[in-house]
Amino acid sequence: MRLILLGPPGSGKGTQAQRLVHKHGIVQLSTGEMLRAAVAAGTPIGLQAKEIMANGGLVPDEVVVGIIADRIEQPDAKKGFILDGFPRTVPQAEALDELLRKKHLKLDAVIELRVNESALLDRVEKRAEETRARGEEVRLDDTPDVLTKRLAQYRSMTEPLIHYYSERRKLLTVDGMMTIEHVTRDINRILAAIGALEPKAEEPAKAARKASKKTTKKVAKAAKKAAKSAPKAAKGTSKAKSAKKSVKKATKKAVKTAPKKASARKSVKAAKPAKKAAKKRAKR
Ligand code: AMP
Repeated sequence: MRLILLGPPGSGKGTQAQRLVHKHGIVQLSTGEMLRAAVAAGTPIGLQAKEIMANGGLVPDEVVVGIIADRIEQPDAKKGFILDGFPRTVPQAEALDELLRKKHLKLDAVIELRVNESALLDRVEKRAEETRARGEEVRLDDTPDVLTKRLAQYRSMTEPLIHYYSERRKLLTVDGMMTIEHVTRDINRILAAIGALEPKAEEPAKAARKASKKTTKKVAKAAKKAAKSAPKAAKGTSKAKSAKKSVKKATKKAVKTAPKKASARKSVKAAKPAKKAAKKRAKR
């Protein structure tokens, strides 16, 4: 499952992403988190991003696209991921489309958390308070001044993505003003409705296909074995007759249980020469 969580700062993207990670076992890819780690580690990217982030600006597209391109290559992202805070501009969204296209990966949905802007300042202040209470360092950009700038950035640079993804029929909107629990439930309901939680929905069909394939292989193998043992039986004896019979039966079963898939047809084909050889040998 590959998702994007879209919403202004303080809309709950991070919280919901963590809950999805927990429930579905996929990774959360937060460009904000990665950039904060780069700043803390003093890497070249961190040095470049530090000032921009502190002022509520956007880090250049090529920098964040590079980070995401590397990150989705990691083994833990193979099963799926939730992008939190990326893309934030139309060029980033286009770059992501290209990255996924090259890797033959599909984006399941973009979930927009819609919130009233008036509630965001309260939320961000609360987040800062909670962080302080845990004895952790408060984000430099979680101040009323910087938040105002980040909101302005969101409106001008990120909001156009709502149109971008709705045109591509990827956008699904959730009321982000509800409780955390309620929002999570709504997101999961949406994911189930669009079939993004496919393992559960598809498992029976997949299992049936697998079982059928296995049976066909087993039967074809039995047919071959029967064909091999046939020459041992003397011509005209009851043993030869029963060998012939078992080959016939096995081949019939293989044809019957074969699904329409090419691989299964191959197994049936493999059973036919065995049948011919067995007939020939039985005649001898
Ligand atoms: P966040 O934790 O998502 O609120 O991001 C914190 C800050 O990191 C943002 O205000 C930006 O300065 C920077 N940032 C995070 N993600 C991106 C992105 N996709 N594009 C540009 N800047 C980003």
